[in-house]
Amino acid sequence: MSNLTERVRTYEVRTFGCQMNVHDSERLAGLLEAEGMVRQVGDEPADVIVLNTCAVRENADNKLYGNLGQLRALKLENPDLQIAVGGCLAQKDQGIIIKRAPWVDAVFGTHNLAALPVLLERARIEREAQIEIAESLEAFPSTLPSKRDSAYSAWVSVSVGCNNTCTFCIVPALRGKEKDRRPGDILNEVRMLVDQGVIEITLLGQNVNAYGVEFGDREAFSKLLRACGDIEGLERVRFTSPHPKEFSDDVIAAMAETHNVMHQLHMPLQSGSDRILAAMKRSYRQERYLGIIERVRKAMPDAAITTDIIVGFPGETEEDFEGTLEVVRQARFAAAFTFQYSKRPGTPAAEMPDQIPADVVTERFDRLVALANGITWDENKKLVGQRVEVLIADGEGKKDETTLRLSGRSKDYRLVHVARPEGLDVRPGDMLSATVTYAAPYHLLADTDVTLRRTRAGDAWENSQAAPQPSLLQIGSLGVRSPQS
Ligand code: SF4
Repeated sequence: MSNLTERVRTYEVRTFGCQMNVHDSERLAGLLEAEGMVRQVGDEPADVIVLNTCAVRENADNKLYGNLGQLRALKLENPDLQIAVGGCLAQKDQGIIIKRAPWVDAVFGTHNLAALPVLLERARIEREAQIEIAESLEAFPSTLPSKRDSAYSAWVSVSVGCNNTCTFCIVPALRGKEKDRRPGDILNEVRMLVDQGVIEITLLGQNVNAYGVEFGDREAFSKLLRACGDIEGLERVRFTSPHPKEFSDDVIAAMAETHNVMHQLHMPLQSGSDRILAAMKRSYRQERYLGIIERVRKAMPDAAITTDIIVGFPGETEEDFEGTLEVVRQARFAAAFTFQYSKRPGTPAAEMPDQIPADVVTERFDRLVALANGITWDENKKLVGQRVEVLIADGEGKKDETTLRLSGRSKDYRLVHVARPEGLDVRPGDMLSATVTYAAPYHLLADTDVTLRRTRAGDAWENSQAAPQPSLLQIGSLGVRSPQS
């Protein structure tokens, strides 16, 4: 803890990659605030800048070393600036980061977030870069202090790591085997969050529905969802990412029968070709995937299903790709997050023969995006005339020629811009219900019959505004995506 004579130090955490990293970044912010630091407000550079990195795609390296290049100039201006690098790329590159960027002060990994403050202090005293990487989990990040980004919505991790071995994925090598939190610890955290005004939680795991494998309870995840149904004041429960291999009927039943579990499901497909799914070691085939979609829709006809798809996996033929298009036609996703295959050094797929030429990958990618976006828009159009309840997000909202709108997410996680009701004070965390009047490819407009429901979350947001306001965490240019699954 700095002595009273020193100015309160400020920090900034830059997050790249998936929601698991966003969750961890809230812990890194919590650790620094526990040291008496405050978030940087405004354009002035912070005293401590932490990069929480991602390693999923090829350009992840470029992003890290590009950022470090920019920070070098700041460090030359202010030698007291401290720079720390954590996350998956730190876990992978370790000492290479200090070699390539000797102006970095601290490097820590995915298993030892709590080391950050100690490494920074040691680097400050010894004026020497510090690096500490643990090969296995030291403490669940959820046990660390947290500085949440939102007053009304929270990430709750149920497990870390993954037992699968998808051949394109580097996550198991960097986040280790799956470790499950105890159900009681998770539910206590959820109750504590609800007491703080949170009304929406997202249960997080690399492979969230495998939850319980470590303590031998195959139905642990559906039990967890049902237990969330008994928590007073918790309005919206979401989870990400499930894996089709372990997605079981007890989870579908728990989603359909628990009042506050949202009918929204992100189910990565990756490929619609059985041959490519085998090469990816995804342990399910097209028939099983479509079977899950069918059972989900039977139990919850209003369910919004989204997915991740990789185009151009090594060896993918036109016939394989047609398999992917066929699943997209049948599954009618509310949104599809599509990726061009990116060779990831250290993954089995990177060594596979028949790497697909970039122009072929791009041509297929464009066809897939056109098909998926057309379906997404058609599915949105079906909602015109329906009433939606929207959890209003932080931010100013959008104004077109005639209407000022506030933005937020509906129960099925669609982005909705709602006409701001005249004369009513609407706060982030409050709920606006309205009738959908227009459907765009990626959002809905809801301009009529607008009613306001003020919530405890809105109160929590208002109270949080009363406290001194730091700036929001910097979200890397990639935007946030679901943990790889
Ligand atoms: S893609 Fe997902 S399920 Fe597969 S190894 Fe990576 S984290 Fe695990």
